[in-house]
Amino acid sequence: MQDKTFESLGLIEPLLKGVREERYTTPTQVQEEAIPVILSGRDLIACAQTGTGKTAAFALPLMQLLAKDNRPLAPRKARVLILTPTRELAMQINESFKTYGRHMHQYTAVVYGGVGQTPQVRAMQRGVHVLIATPGRLQDLMQQGHIRLDGVEFLVLDEADRMLDMGFKPDIDRILAKLPSRRQSLLFSATMPENIVDYARTILSNPVRIAVSPESPTVDLIDQQVMFVDKDKKISLLLSVINEKGIKRALVFTRTKHMANRVAEHLAKNKIPADAIHGNKSQNARTIALDRFKSGRVNILVATDVAARGIDVDDITHVINYEIPDEAESYIHRIGRTARAGQSGTAISFCEAQERTNLNNIQYLLKKEIPVVTGHSYHSQRAQYAKGEESRMPQRGGGNRGYRNRSSRPQNRSGHGRQDGHKKGGYQKRRRYD
Ligand code: AMP
Repeated sequence: MQDKTFESLGLIEPLLKGVREERYTTPTQVQEEAIPVILSGRDLIACAQTGTGKTAAFALPLMQLLAKDNRPLAPRKARVLILTPTRELAMQINESFKTYGRHMHQYTAVVYGGVGQTPQVRAMQRGVHVLIATPGRLQDLMQQGHIRLDGVEFLVLDEADRMLDMGFKPDIDRILAKLPSRRQSLLFSATMPENIVDYARTILSNPVRIAVSPESPTVDLIDQQVMFVDKDKKISLLLSVINEKGIKRALVFTRTKHMANRVAEHLAKNKIPADAIHGNKSQNARTIALDRFKSGRVNILVATDVAARGIDVDDITHVINYEIPDEAESYIHRIGRTARAGQSGTAISFCEAQERTNLNNIQYLLKKEIPVVTGHSYHSQRAQYAKGEESRMPQRGGGNRGYRNRSSRPQNRSGHGRQDGHKKGGYQKRRRYD
């Protein structure tokens, strides 16, 4: 599978040049499968997570199709419309188009809420090749007459599952009603539950369906560890982990905004440059924090789950779960921020006694135990041996795959030092329970 090249996918030279300059040598699986389909003009439904290279999988062929029929732009119109759930993702997609398309001379605009609309309106005035938008702001600008969608030839719904989860369906429906019915449509989703498949049927016409490796290579590449610790020792453990491992670029997750601030402040007090991002921060403050992190001026970014969605920063070597998420699915999203596109990464979870249930749920979802590291100064046996509740994940696929009795539950009671859990299994089917 991996011996394909970007050249063999039929991409034109200016795009190949952009890809080479990014030092991508081989297409990822989703790129290998999606690019020829999109270039052939077919609709596509793709099950692919962030981190698999899915942005380039649609950006590259779309830019090529635009160039093939180089018609003039019309004021306030876009030829490609990309809908995404979050502003961070919208900005990242825009960056990707600019990066991969730096030799294509195509115009993009990005439209999202939480910031003034004037620059966005201005960007649309003469029309663009590619418009990337979150559904709410797009509708605002359409209603005010600043954007018209009757010239859209290509539609991309990115992270469709998340858009539906976030309640965007009515907005998307209203937006889609304004699009020409003759168009090429692509739908990308990290998970493929029934409601997405049904919804896709109403939007796509005779689509090609692809799914990238359900074994989730990204998660398999991550070195996952648990450290048991008492609540009041977490900050000391964090400082020692960062200092001892000489961590240069880590994302630290907390459950609450308040805790994100507190952790970032503690780190800064201890001379570790850190910023916090969460929903209470303005869009500007979040962008600045993200830029500082990307440029390496800040080593540690402390984030809540919502703020971290879609963050795509290369070379994050460590994800630290300062607090274990309530939703097991969030754990997968969190650790997926490291080990991007084939690189390795480490995910360390700090687990206190009260978080055992959450940890059990995560291990149930992963279908494996996360190896425990006990050889640190703040190891808590109390946390390690706390039982937690039985996994409260619903059972899937009809079979009894729950942990019925304690002997088969993922608990780690033996020995010291690092213990490896079941190697087999791994994360197979992504499903959402939130
Ligand atoms: P995405 O899934 O689009 O969010 O991409 C995840 C990461 O993979 C981004 O940081 C890209 O820069 C990187 N990437 C995308 N395609 C490739 C490739 N063919 N080779 C190496 N890295 C890639």
